Amino acid sequence: KGFITDFGGLTSHAAIVARSLKIPAVVGAHDASKKIHTNDVIIIDGFHGVGIINPDNEQLKYYQQKLERLAQFDKELMLIRDEPAVTQDGREIILRGNIDVPDEIEMLIQNGGKGIGLLRTEQIFGDIETFPDEEEQYQTYNMMAEKAYPESVIIRAFDVGGDKFLPHDIKEPNPFLGWRGIRFLLDNPDIFKTQMRAVLRASVHKNIKFMLPMISSLYEIKNSKQILQSCMNELKSANIKFDSHLKIGIMIEVPSAAVMAKEFASEVDFISIGTNDLIQFILAVDRGNDIVSSDYQEFHPAVVRTLNHIISEAKKENTLVSICGEMAGDTFAIPLLVGMGLDSVSVVPSAIPYIKKIIKCINFEKARKLAEDCLKCSKMEDITERIDKFFKDNSVEQQKNILDEKT
Ligand code: PEP
Ligand code: MG
Repeated sequence: KGFITDFGGLTSHAAIVARSLKIPAVVGAHDASKKIHTNDVIIIDGFHGVGIINPDNEQLKYYQQKLERLAQFDKELMLIRDEPAVTQDGREIILRGNIDVPDEIEMLIQNGGKGIGLLRTEQIFGDIETFPDEEEQYQTYNMMAEKAYPESVIIRAFDVGGDKFLPHDIKEPNPFLGWRGIRFLLDNPDIFKTQMRAVLRASVHKNIKFMLPMISSLYEIKNSKQILQSCMNELKSANIKFDSHLKIGIMIEVPSAAVMAKEFASEVDFISIGTNDLIQFILAVDRGNDIVSSDYQEFHPAVVRTLNHIISEAKKENTLVSICGEMAGDTFAIPLLVGMGLDSVSVVPSAIPYIKKIIKCINFEKARKLAEDCLKCSKMEDITERIDKFFKDNSVEQQKNILDEKT
């Protein structure tokens, strides 16, 4: 029904998967395992990061009523399920979902998401110790493409390493800075090619895009494109059909890629900002370490300015920009992100209705001014104060109040 852990941060993978599955969770509670005993009754309030051990009757009643209010609010949100996420002055933000487990696609469709903005392939095959073969991968990608059709599916190449599975018995002193993502794939071309072939075969529906994780240098993009081309040639000679215009994109989650956003954007069809990693690398704060979790700040001026730099540099190349990190699922961040000019966001499917509600309540021109203002700030508190004021001044307050019940 829920879980509390002593360790971990809000963007560690256990927390992300819990959010996707709507499992109440509190992570990084330090000493919960000492305080909680067998047969205790626990309330887990994941929205506020609170665990209550053996609640009294009043607390139980409050939370039971809150569950009913939330269910009612969820019902109301379903009324806008089929409406696009358009600001009051007509700017549409494409709202997609991040998929970590296959069943989530149902929730994505139910919640009115416009396709899959991030398919975490290193997660989707479950508890794997070896990589799935081409046929198994093809079946899964094809199923996702068919279910999402006519919307698109952005398949991210295996981002192994970090706090995710690595199919070798290797202990790294700093796994987040180690053998992961694109580095691992380029060092293991057989694994990379098997995945590319499966992606290409599933691309016949023409609604699949392919995305590269943890890009930090231009050669990684160029080498990956060459390998993709060789896979296309192989399939062509074998008379196997695929989308020869398959769009390719990169994740921007390493500061070097953020700095080089313009050059990198010119090489690809789209970019997606992975704030989970990007924030940890800009601020040098381990995303999974609860001891420093208060230093992991989405609204740090350096983070906000970096996001704006990436978006404006990519726009110069007419490259579409999205965010698929957890920051995009934070309702409080939405006016600022929209104001910086994002084209789309991808969030856990359970968050789609809340994000859509906020987008529909804001005015893009005003959000743009908010972003301009925030970019001048040199303290996180000044940025959050301005966002707070934006919610108040633009009568988005009422939505936020309801959402605050949850967040
Ligand atoms: C990110 O880094 O923001 C991201 C979406 O990738 P992951 O969380 O899988 O590392
Ligand atoms: Mg990442």
